[in-house]
Amino acid sequence: MTILKCSATTCAYNEDMLCSRGEIDMMGESAHSAEETCCGSFREKSQGTMNSAKNGCGCETIQIDCKACGCTYNDKCKCTAASISVDGNDARKCDETKCSTFQCEC
Ligand code: SF4
Repeated sequence: MTILKCSATTCAYNEDMLCSRGEIDMMGESAHSAEETCCGSFREKSQGTMNSAKNGCGCETIQIDCKACGCTYNDKCKCTAASISVDGNDARKCDETKCSTFQCEC
């Protein structure tokens, strides 16, 4: 599994820069850059998910289903990178997050 660090601390699943969701969906079907990816599992804290969203504590490793098939680390919609960094300081929605580890095969 992949080690995930996430700076989207406005997300209900974020626990000290780790993700507590257990698995996430990364979006970006036609992405050619990190900016064109986003975390489809992002949920803003203020949407009432604050307590119910948590699936336990933040874990270092996570299962990542990823639609960004143009990324070097993507193998049949699974992320094979040893570690990734998701960024989204002050994010309010999915589009304001990105996988900074994305590397275009192009
Ligand atoms: S590194 Fe690539 S395959 Fe892994 S989550 Fe990021 S965009 Fe998807």
